[in-house]
Amino acid sequence: MPTILVTGGAGYIGSHTRYFLQQRGYRVVVLDSLERGFREAVPNEILHVLDLRNTETIAMLLKTEKVDAAIHFAGYISVGESTKDPEKYFVNNVSGSLSLFEAMLHADVRKLVFSSTAAAYGVPDHVPIREDQPFAPINPYGESKVMVEKILGWMDKYQDFRSVRLRYFNACGAEPEAGLGERHDPETHLIPLLLTAVQTGKPITLFGDDYPTPDGTCIRDYIHVSDLAAAHIYAVEYLLNAGASDVFNVGTGVGASVKEVLEAVERVTGKPVPFTMGPRREGDPPSLVADSTKLQTKLGWKPQRAELDRIISDAWQFAQSLKTS
Ligand code: UDP
Repeated sequence: MPTILVTGGAGYIGSHTRYFLQQRGYRVVVLDSLERGFREAVPNEILHVLDLRNTETIAMLLKTEKVDAAIHFAGYISVGESTKDPEKYFVNNVSGSLSLFEAMLHADVRKLVFSSTAAAYGVPDHVPIREDQPFAPINPYGESKVMVEKILGWMDKYQDFRSVRLRYFNACGAEPEAGLGERHDPETHLIPLLLTAVQTGKPITLFGDDYPTPDGTCIRDYIHVSDLAAAHIYAVEYLLNAGASDVFNVGTGVGASVKEVLEAVERVTGKPVPFTMGPRREGDPPSLVADSTKLQTKLGWKPQRAELDRIISDAWQFAQSLKTS
């Protein structure tokens, strides 16, 4: 079986993808700085603790491990933080990626799956969003991903460097049986924060109910992390089978408002969620829902755990295991 490098494999989506790659029989090499990832999310024997900027060391690793393709998750992911410290986002997400690509070229590894984002579309003209909508990011996080997508376009054209760019919508849920789930520090994402509010009794602040949506709160497309991980496996297999560079949205195609997510959390946990209504958060578009038809028809991917209650139930199981461990 081929060997796959996973950068950011100690992070949320990276750790789930690593798990499913190994389940499928791939050899996996994980590279993670552990700045924001968790050591225990990766089997020790495959973990290399390394910053992406160590180009030479990464090139050597790729050669000695005989890596066939890479899946590149490592990067900062918080919209809010990126509006406070844009430079940090460009250094880490853009320079870090370039260093990895340089190492890959040195080692003649020319297949890459890249974590991109729905934030690349900004406030979209049409919802559900298709891949051919133009780039229009409204925050530095989204812009940093767009920059890397564009770099990959040129590398495809002139350096035979093939990539699949996956534009994620809202990753959530967990794989509690594998001991994997969402653990950002600080946590900024809606579902884990709602679950923490249930556990602690401390209210969560909801960011605005004056959006042009039916209940006034923002609409997002929440996709189970394991379905998202599966999309990476379809993508890397497509590249290993000599597929051309391409871009795909990864979402369920169904949107849920912040209030609807809160109600689902109350249903699943059987407890009320304490909350206060706050102002809008900087950089939040009103509605982001994926049209993932292309991923379904071209690569044969299909979400298996699309229902919100199932997603939240997995996340809840994981959150409870953290509390008791
Ligand atoms: N949100 C909220 N309160 C929070 C965190 C998030 O109301 O404490 C809202 C946020 O404004 C957005 C939705 O929940 O409309 C999803 O946000 P999240 O940060 O989970 O993901 P993003 O959409 O930024 O990728």
